Amino acid sequence: MRRLVVLGAGTAGTMAVNKLRRRLDRAQWHMTVVDQNDTHLYQPGLLFLPFGVSGSGDISRPRRRFVPEGVDLILGEVDRVEPEMNTVVLRDGRTLPYDYLVIATGTTPRPDQTPGMLGPEWRRSIFDFYSHDGAVALADALRDFAGGRLVVHVVDMPIKCPVAPLEFAFLAEAHFRRRHMRDRVELVYVTPLPGAFTKPIASARLGSMLDERKIDVESDFLVEHLDNDRKVLVSYDEREIPFDLLVTVPLNMGADYVARSGLGDELNYVPVDKHTLLSRTHTNIFAIGDANNIPTSKAGSVAHFSVEIFTDNFCQHVAGEPMTGSFDGHANCFIETGRGKAMLIDFNYTTEPLPGKFPLPGIGPFSLLEESAINHWGKLAFRWIYWHLLLPGRPIPLPANMSMAGKDRPEKEE
Ligand SMILES: Cc1cc2nc3c(=O)[nH]c(=O)nc-3n(C[C@H](O)[C@H](O)[C@H](O)COP(=O)(O)OP(=O)(O)OC[C@H]3O[C@@H](n4cnc5c(N)ncnc54)[C@H](O)[C@@H]3O)c2cc1C
Repeated sequence: MRRLVVLGAGTAGTMAVNKLRRRLDRAQWHMTVVDQNDTHLYQPGLLFLPFGVSGSGDISRPRRRFVPEGVDLILGEVDRVEPEMNTVVLRDGRTLPYDYLVIATGTTPRPDQTPGMLGPEWRRSIFDFYSHDGAVALADALRDFAGGRLVVHVVDMPIKCPVAPLEFAFLAEAHFRRRHMRDRVELVYVTPLPGAFTKPIASARLGSMLDERKIDVESDFLVEHLDNDRKVLVSYDEREIPFDLLVTVPLNMGADYVARSGLGDELNYVPVDKHTLLSRTHTNIFAIGDANNIPTSKAGSVAHFSVEIFTDNFCQHVAGEPMTGSFDGHANCFIETGRGKAMLIDFNYTTEPLPGKFPLPGIGPFSLLEESAINHWGKLAFRWIYWHLLLPGRPIPLPANMSMAGKDRPEKEE
């Protein structure tokens, strides 16, 4: 028997085992997936928890429900990989030998990496919404917030779902307006980027939406520490940003075992070929989803599109054939903008988000780079698609690589 071990049963790992179990001969392949716990969180739902739009029950399910028959699910924390021995070692001492390894342990918010973030104000006036506990605690804080300076802050890039902090700012603005207290709240968006987003056209559009909503932007801000006594963010260039309530996205990092195993870069992401997701150093290791270092957004949509291509490539690779699939960095993200509307962006390694219609040219029904109520309903419907189609690895009628159909090409400059 050949042994495939997948580390992480989150979005990417679960889709991969579902797709591969259908493709790999059961008489020849033993498949195992490892995760540190049995609760699968639908992470896009964390954005809505602080505003009471969705509850914890809507966004979590037992992992084992999504692991197909014929795949062993092992619950345990990965301590290290010993690539020269082709073995995974778990924290409790269990060892798992493999012939092929797929790393899918994602990325995690790390408030411990910024001095002062976990100080006395943590979960009193400093919150995150990238963790379940944080989003739940923030719901209470927002409910009790009587007004003042709310700062939405990103420590550094890359983060998973890079639009989520912007969405939080838009939703907070709409929330205070609904509660008739907008005039009592000063909203500030603090980013390490030069603008609202990483890509120029989308950044300009999102920047003007922040402007329209009177949300101040503090750009190029690299936080050095948080002063808990004075409740201020302090940057390396000694700028200070005071807050009454801080909603921060801590530094995101790949799992520590990746570093302990000598498989990661400085943020514990696994360097891979950006088209095949094969490790740059080991021909029997792939890294999928947020765990790798490919230069596109860390997002569930990227995990989905890339796993489609990875599955075909993996089957060719283990058969000793050349891999013919080439992932183009396709990402597709709804951006909730408040007041029952959302925007949609669709892009890849080489094409930035453009205006137009998606997925059908001229028809949509979704609008690219434009707010619409249908986009908002698309975002909400996605949760159902996630549990019922994506995780079980069922086909979705969208191309894995980006299509230019429906997109308005930018006019060439003379
Ligand atoms: C607030 C928020 C909003 C988001 N919104 C969107 C959105 O609208 N659209 C979108 O496309 N994406 C969105 N995302 C991003 C999306 O959720 C992730 O990109 C996606 O889940 C990545 O999948 P993954 O499998 O790589 O990682 P994950 O799904 O995070 O899975 C990683 C798994 O590895 C396990 N693991 C980690 N370390 C270990 C270890 N040492 N031992 C054992 N197991 C381990 C974890 O328990 C976890 O189950 C959002 C994320 C957040 C936080």
